[in-house]
Amino acid sequence: MYIIPKHTVPNPADCFDPRIGLVPVSQAKQRILDSIQPVADTDKVALVEGLNRILASSIVCHHNVPPHANSAMDGYAIAATSLPMEGTRTFRVAGTAYAGKPFTQPCKPDEVVQVMTGAVMPKNTDTVVIQEDVKMSNGSATISAGHKINQNVRQAGEDIPAKSVAVETGTRIGPAELGVIASTGNSHVDVYRQPVATVFSTGDELVNSGQELPPGGIYDSNRFTLTGLLQNTGLQVLDYGIIRDRPDETIASLETACQSSDVVITSGGVSTGEADYVIEALQELGEVQLWRIAIRPGRPFAYGKIGNALFFGLPGNPVAVIVTYYALVLPSLRKLMGEIDLNPSLSVKAKATTRFRKKPNRAEVYRAILSHDENGFPVVASTGDQGSGLLRSLSKANCFVLLDDDDETAHPGDMVNVQLFNGIF
Ligand code: AMP
Ligand code: MG
Repeated sequence: MYIIPKHTVPNPADCFDPRIGLVPVSQAKQRILDSIQPVADTDKVALVEGLNRILASSIVCHHNVPPHANSAMDGYAIAATSLPMEGTRTFRVAGTAYAGKPFTQPCKPDEVVQVMTGAVMPKNTDTVVIQEDVKMSNGSATISAGHKINQNVRQAGEDIPAKSVAVETGTRIGPAELGVIASTGNSHVDVYRQPVATVFSTGDELVNSGQELPPGGIYDSNRFTLTGLLQNTGLQVLDYGIIRDRPDETIASLETACQSSDVVITSGGVSTGEADYVIEALQELGEVQLWRIAIRPGRPFAYGKIGNALFFGLPGNPVAVIVTYYALVLPSLRKLMGEIDLNPSLSVKAKATTRFRKKPNRAEVYRAILSHDENGFPVVASTGDQGSGLLRSLSKANCFVLLDDDDETAHPGDMVNVQLFNGIF
């Protein structure tokens, strides 16, 4: 635990004095992750209620999906051994099979069976010739040479083989997983308990939107951003409003919040200014495990525990809130929720078309726009001024450009790491 005497001269000999050493982001992330135990309690919920929750026991599929070999197209089912090697051959059409209405007689060597997409393959057939390739006259079907065995047939179990794991425990349930689980026949899922996160903002200047702005006031935006981020992550959010810059009020609010939540997240008041009381409150009530990270924007960031609750003290600057959330809070919450994949956002390389200015010994995160050049190759441009209060630039951006502690300024033409904001799911 750090003991942080306020407004005293830093001790340069003490590398753990948080005013001297800024903790590199990767180290900070690992230390937070190491301190987190995933929630253990589970809920059984109806399948659709499982959306965006974390699966708590693997889904084992007891039957093949699809259950039977079936036709992938509208056409004629045939035994591949009856197909002509050259020229054409004419067959009797023995009947028709529909999806859900199988044709039950065996197909003879001089016969074909008309099949609709999804129809179970009739006995003795293994191949489908699409209807466009079949010449019909007087109820007989003429087929030319050139077809391949098993064409246009979906094999039993080709999606999910019987007795295999269809979805692993620790997976976040998205729309695709809902479908996969439904196809195994399960109507309910075991998911981990949804953690509760309490958010509040700190600052005498903050005003709730909807109220009149007094001189020197600004509207509180961070609580809304954080509520959105946390809900998207899949937590239950409690909003504790705004805390004034007073040590007693800060301590009292943190104490109450920690009793009813798994996670408490504040923004602002985490630096060393005269009106910053979050660190003091954390020291008073619990344990400061990390403070000040080598990242821009986002340096004043605190992590600790109060009782059983995790505490994240985010910076006040609105962009720094989002940057530190993605870099440090999101992976931590995913671990807390029981998720296996802690870093799902795709990171790719793109060619910079603008300069990304970088100072040594800290990671920098830039708001940027990923697009493509005239050949379709990915290019990325800065959104412009990177001031950490410019929240609208983040709304314009569709990705971050990430430069590591040791990276230097990137110039137009350099390849840089890009982290995308959104996937299609
Ligand atoms: P602080 O870290 O408390 O010194 O805040 C840094 C900057 O962020 C100041 O300009 C604050 O006014 C601003 N800020 C702090 N909290 C919020 C908030 N909830 N919404 C918008 N801006 C904020
Ligand atoms: Mg403040």
